Amino acid sequence: ASDAAFIGLDLGTSGCRAIAVDTRGQEIAQARAGLPAPESPAPGHQEQDPELWWTAAQEVLGTLAEALRGHAPRAICVDATSATLLLAEPSGQPLGPALMYSDQRATEAARRVAEVAPPDSPARGPSAGLAKVMALADRLRPGTSAMALHQADWIAGKLCGGFGESDWNNALKTGFDPIRLSWPSWVPELLPREIQLPRVRAPGAQLGLLTPELAESLGMQGRIEVLAGTTDSTAAAIAAGAARPGDAVTSLGSTLVVKIVADRPIVASRYGVYSHRLGDAWLVGGASNSGGAVLRQHFTDDEIRALSAAIDPSTETGLGYYPLPGTGERFPRHDPGLKPALAPRPETPDQFLQGLLEGIAAIEAEGYAKLAELGAPAPTQVASLGGGSLNDAWTGIRARLLGVPVMAAAHQEAAYGAALLAMRARGTGALARASHPS
Ligand code: ADP
Repeated sequence: ASDAAFIGLDLGTSGCRAIAVDTRGQEIAQARAGLPAPESPAPGHQEQDPELWWTAAQEVLGTLAEALRGHAPRAICVDATSATLLLAEPSGQPLGPALMYSDQRATEAARRVAEVAPPDSPARGPSAGLAKVMALADRLRPGTSAMALHQADWIAGKLCGGFGESDWNNALKTGFDPIRLSWPSWVPELLPREIQLPRVRAPGAQLGLLTPELAESLGMQGRIEVLAGTTDSTAAAIAAGAARPGDAVTSLGSTLVVKIVADRPIVASRYGVYSHRLGDAWLVGGASNSGGAVLRQHFTDDEIRALSAAIDPSTETGLGYYPLPGTGERFPRHDPGLKPALAPRPETPDQFLQGLLEGIAAIEAEGYAKLAELGAPAPTQVASLGGGSLNDAWTGIRARLLGVPVMAAAHQEAAYGAALLAMRARGTGALARASHPS
């Protein structure tokens, strides 16, 4: 069993990636294919034919299989964007294109959700899965039976030849209650009777086996389990090392997102804070409007790199900025009228950049403090993801403000997190069997 491989398959916003790990979580192989941009048939509408995902997924898994060499794949776990959904026939045949995470048409549906959802429900809002399913249902021919599926659910269904199952993480913003492990009654009541919600499983639970036809066409042999998946952002946090309470992951992309593992769920919809269930623990997250997008309003990435090299992270500008790309903040301060605080402007660009980096780092620290105030543990260490994670000066500034070790995550790919999830769900059995031959 030492040559077993566990596969993570990620459907991201621009491409599809697969990563295989061994029983120790070491990466064995990786493959990637691009995905076309979504179509926009009307302003605010973003759609895609799910068959494009499936074509990319098969290409990537086929390439990965060739690169596995001596390793035998044991399980596949899929992560994708939970806010990308489709309706499908019970056979899995899509009933029209999927609504993408970026689609904005579900505002009226979100208003109907707001009338009945509890105040702290993560299913509130036009980008959440529930409003998307309602918008999809609105365009369905009356009387047509359909399954509501998240992107990852549909891909997992294609792999094992059976549809209708999801996981705790993808289903969270579609209204699934991860504490009671059931759909609250108000969720199906918002949907036409013909729409069937998925059965929701623990991430990593076995859904079925890779169909023999697929195994053959992909060049994979043996019994390969298809597991319940997770969301792309949860998978990225797992990849970065989120496992035990206190493990924190900061994403420094266009926006600043902080996540920390807690021993209980924490929800504060006013701040957009919600929790994904990870086994017996919870991944609590909050997203600021601040982040790298503000840096890009003032500097190119090359300028950031060059100017950062001259910054001494042990010094402080004292500028006290609150960098925002526009008016309004959600977390760690809930204030739709909050204006960016970017004055005074120092004479040199490296001082200005340092002020921006300090300001974003201060929001990060305030974010973890806010999560702690809401009941999360304080971070014991912070792994970083995204464009800003490789900036050493910024890492130094952040470590000073956070007071704990800060490092770039060794693994930044969601596909790696999905592979680890598969290994942890299914790998221990293989290890146990290997060390205790019967
Ligand atoms: P996303 O996927 O959210 O667009 P990325 O992870 O690709 O984000 O990161 C892009 C962001 O990283 C940009 O907003 C940019 O300002 C920022 N960025 C790029 N290079 C650096 C750097 N050396 N230091 C800090 N930030 C950087």
